Amino acid sequence: MTARMGTARLGPAERATALRRMAAQELDVVVIGGGVVGAGVALDAATRGLTVGLLETRDFASGTSSRSSKLIHGGLRYLEQLNFDLVREALQERALLLQRIAPHLVRPVPFLFPLTHLGWERPYVGAGLTLYDTLGFSLGFTRGVPGHRHLSRRRALRLAPALRRTAFSGAVQYWDAQVDDARYVMTMLRTAATYGAEVASRAQVVGFLREGERVTGVRALDLEDGVELDVRARQVVNATGVWTDDIQELVGGRGQIHVRASKGVHLVVPRDRIHSLTGIILRTEKSVLFVIPWGRHWIIGTTDTRWDLDRAHPAASRSDIDYVLEHVNRVLSVPLSRDDVEGVYAGLRPLLSGESEETSKLSREHVVAHPVPGLVMVAGGKYTTYRVMARDAVDAVVHGLDQRVPPSCTDRIPLAGAEGYQALWNSRQRLAASSGLHVARIEHLLQRYGSLIDEVITLIERDPSLALPLTGADDYLRAEIVHAATHEGARHLNDALSRRTHISIETFHRGLAVAEEAAELMAGPLGWDDEQIKREIEHYTKRIEAERLSQEQDTDQEADAIRLGAPEIVPVVGPAS
Ligand SMILES: Cc1cc2nc3c(=O)[nH]c(=O)nc-3n(C[C@H](O)[C@H](O)[C@H](O)COP(=O)(O)OP(=O)(O)OC[C@H]3O[C@@H](n4cnc5c(N)ncnc54)[C@H](O)[C@@H]3O)c2cc1C
Repeated sequence: MTARMGTARLGPAERATALRRMAAQELDVVVIGGGVVGAGVALDAATRGLTVGLLETRDFASGTSSRSSKLIHGGLRYLEQLNFDLVREALQERALLLQRIAPHLVRPVPFLFPLTHLGWERPYVGAGLTLYDTLGFSLGFTRGVPGHRHLSRRRALRLAPALRRTAFSGAVQYWDAQVDDARYVMTMLRTAATYGAEVASRAQVVGFLREGERVTGVRALDLEDGVELDVRARQVVNATGVWTDDIQELVGGRGQIHVRASKGVHLVVPRDRIHSLTGIILRTEKSVLFVIPWGRHWIIGTTDTRWDLDRAHPAASRSDIDYVLEHVNRVLSVPLSRDDVEGVYAGLRPLLSGESEETSKLSREHVVAHPVPGLVMVAGGKYTTYRVMARDAVDAVVHGLDQRVPPSCTDRIPLAGAEGYQALWNSRQRLAASSGLHVARIEHLLQRYGSLIDEVITLIERDPSLALPLTGADDYLRAEIVHAATHEGARHLNDALSRRTHISIETFHRGLAVAEEAAELMAGPLGWDDEQIKREIEHYTKRIEAERLSQEQDTDQEADAIRLGAPEIVPVVGPAS
């Protein structure tokens, strides 16, 4: 197979077929949860030759996996906690993702570490970064990013003129990597489907099939039409992040793994509000704060506070926003205000619990357990190490299958769009000339679709009006919204504006100004009538209004109550909130 030929689509017809096939046979594995871990499990299992199905309650990556800092990193913080194995493993994954698995989606990103203490701090940070760079080398791979370098205050100010001269005495610059987290999950699911996995969003697991003590599959509800289906499988994998304990309760009895949630809030501001050629990392009392370049924007975050309220739509409060602004303003010569904030998003870290430590010190390492025959649980970890988590979970599945299955090969499986990406990137001028699109557009498309760019160009060839940018979100072409619906599993307006594109956090209007145009573009492929178009726009508008209002509230409780006032376009049942 090459990634460019015959990459599976995730359109509405493919979803219907996937659900039908899942109900019609006994699978080797069914995966609950379409975040990065569940998607990773589906790809790992499919590429070992197993039959696999995946069910996701809402949209793919709509949980934590679209709400992260979007860094593929070892985590300097873990180095300080002397957790060298965790850092080494994550940095090896970084090298693999950057250079083989997804060079179109994962990119190097520089960070400046401003020094504030004279004397001890430079050798301390320098030694840490030397170790970080060294741990980044792995067998058969280069590190994939440049090494760190020491900078005087004058040289640091040349790179980041936005920094306040008196806020630091010098700096060290180092490199990590970044990813579009939501698109990565969707691309991994397209890859898994290409290798034979059956995947469906808006399909909630509501119960388990049992034979005595043994789990023999799941009962799922197609939330779009209310039809229940039984999916029989020899092994079930629970990859539901912060919902892990709910699934454990569905199966009955006390589980071996407990996951609790810690909220992290990020702000998005326009690129011109901070004059810098590099990202910045700042120490905070509890952890670190990143200022991360993101296209024509900066992502700034994050916070780290315990969260026991609604898990599907964690709300950012005024205090969260003020916390981030206050910390970043400590080093900026021109402070940011709330008026500079284009977008805000909150996510929940799935932390393995049991200890009484502060959330930011709780382990990010993962656990795999086999609580009852037929069920594997995988939880914890972080985005960067999803592949290792998936491999370990499928190893546990194989143990339960009692048959010979090859070892994981996902370290050699490029994601859809990776193969041929470099050659297309090198030919981007020619591609621009042949498609009639500006080279800047081609670069944008290549960094989102890789060699699957031809799918978007084909749509444009059929309907040249799709080559136009969206009015009010001109980073994106109209074709990208259509493609989200036809190829990428977007089933509702919010899926396209929040996860296939990031218009909902990258514009001051938060997507409201493009909602009508985008809904009309999705209507054709998804078969929406005027009534449905209206519903989609209304739901999206209510969500944005509720989010904006919740961000004016002082406390988590008040913010949560207001955010919950906006109904879901496809309501879920039971404890999945
Ligand atoms: C603020 C923040 C910043 C972060 N930054 C980074 C970073 O920069 N780098 C990094 O490596 N990691 C980072 N992380 C961690 C990383 O994002 C998470 O570890 C990872 O995304 C978790 O993925 P997951 O698949 O386990 O969970 P999720 O993405 O939450 O997926 C679980 C899925 O299960 C589904 N589900 C639940 N119940 C059911 C059911 N009954 N039936 C079907 N489906 C169900 C949910 O809808 C959900 O989509 C960050 C996390 C946060 C919160």
